[in-house]
Amino acid sequence: MKAANQKSLSELRLKTTSRVEFVDITQQVMEAVRQHQVDSGICTIFCPHTTAGITINENADPDVPRDMTMALGRVVPATWEFRHSEGNSDSHVKSSLVGPSLTVIMDRGKPLLGTWQGIYFCEFDGPRERKFYVKTVRDAGE
Ligand code: ZN
Repeated sequence: MKAANQKSLSELRLKTTSRVEFVDITQQVMEAVRQHQVDSGICTIFCPHTTAGITINENADPDVPRDMTMALGRVVPATWEFRHSEGNSDSHVKSSLVGPSLTVIMDRGKPLLGTWQGIYFCEFDGPRERKFYVKTVRDAGE
């Protein structure tokens, strides 16, 4: 049963170092989930920014996130004639393409990720100070 002081929401921070960058946050998510002490349930990772996103992809070969950022740059070039005066419309579009959140199944105290899967914070308008949330919901009766 959930203790009265049991944490189920974590706010995590990171500093990005490039305009476009995929940051592997798998270990931060694992640590937050460990602190929540949820054996079985659902975990949501949410990014509260309009020029960033959250995704899952391979984290074994660093060329994969590099190729992802290159491909997204070709899908939505920053040089298009956008109207938004901030000059970061490509970042807003990439943010919506990737999406602001993920839901992961929790099993035996861990996110149920495939062998090659890692969770990425996707920066599209850095470098900046960013944050994301990890929320866990345990199975009824746990
Ligand atoms: Zn903007």
